[in-house]
Amino acid sequence: MFRAVLVEKSEEGQTTASVQEIEEDRLPEGDVTVDVEYSTVNYKDGLCIGPGGGLVRAYPHVPGIDFAGTVTSSDDARYSPGDKVVLTGWRVGENRWGGYAEKARVKADMLVPLPKGLDTRQAMAVGTAGFTAMLAVMALEDHGIKDGPVLVTGAAGGVGSVATAILAHLGHEVAAVTGRAEQEDYLRDLGATQIVPRADLSETTRKPLEAEMWGGCVDAVAGVMLGRVLKQIKYGGSVAAIGLAGGAAIEGALITPFILRGVNLLGIDSVMQPYDARLRAWERIARDLPMEKLEKMVQPATLADLPQLGADILKGKVKGRVVVDVR
Ligand code: NDP
Repeated sequence: MFRAVLVEKSEEGQTTASVQEIEEDRLPEGDVTVDVEYSTVNYKDGLCIGPGGGLVRAYPHVPGIDFAGTVTSSDDARYSPGDKVVLTGWRVGENRWGGYAEKARVKADMLVPLPKGLDTRQAMAVGTAGFTAMLAVMALEDHGIKDGPVLVTGAAGGVGSVATAILAHLGHEVAAVTGRAEQEDYLRDLGATQIVPRADLSETTRKPLEAEMWGGCVDAVAGVMLGRVLKQIKYGGSVAAIGLAGGAAIEGALITPFILRGVNLLGIDSVMQPYDARLRAWERIARDLPMEKLEKMVQPATLADLPQLGADILKGKVKGRVVVDVR
């Protein structure tokens, strides 16, 4: 038996999440079994702990889109009992059981070895949100970050916190957009030098372009904010679009920034990243994310806290990174 957060669906379509004891033979098919040590809470986890947001295929379901732990058995030559591993993506925790459990079984192809320089707790303090923030920074670098502050939207959230800390560590000036004025000290601690109130970017404008302000942007919000930001990016600069915390459309966007300023909109997906790209991103995280900054983002939690935390993250109430001690 092992403990897990199990989401069940009633005949009326109502979902409820609770911690339950589960028999090991109910684990899904896979070639590697892992004793999960830590997991975390991402925006998608909020959906999967709650009504599912169309992501969960079958109930009862164990959510948790990422985890880190120790291999206990493996039918794949690449992994042996005792190996420390990390999993993000591949729709684990959505269309198959995930990391909110003391045990998980997955395909070997879905795993990466625990990156050198990180322990399992730190790996989940980073988690999918931080891993994706690093992918975004790498995409901006590949396209050239222009002079001037790099804007980070949804800055006090998981993706935004890690992006802020990495960009500041790399020597960029960081302007952090937040709707939570009380998080100013936290964001400055992570390395932001400028705080932009969310309200400054929450109204659409009919203007085709605005003053050029930002050397690049990591955007976790989309919606009206992304429509505005595109009009404020400096000539030839790029926006790495990660998320949709503020809406699934790009509202008020026009073609003008693309054709008059050569602005790039770079799509970032963490779920289907190939293995080599995953290794590169984790290596960069170990090198370019200062661990004392990561520690400032951490809020500890247990399996029992997850139903509440799932609801909180959907309301934009979670600060930084939640680290769930699964054991
Ligand atoms: P969080 O909830 O931790 O952060 C989102 C932040 O966005 C909030 O903290 C808040 O920041 C801001 N925000 C929330 N609601 C609104 C709103 N209505 N308008 C403007 N800003 C808002 O989530 P994560 O950081 O984990 O994820 C952020 C987004 O990235 C999500 O949409 C998620 O699905 C997506 N994502 C995508 C991935 C990919 O592979 N592309 C991987 C991981 C995440 P503040 O309070 O500072 O304003």
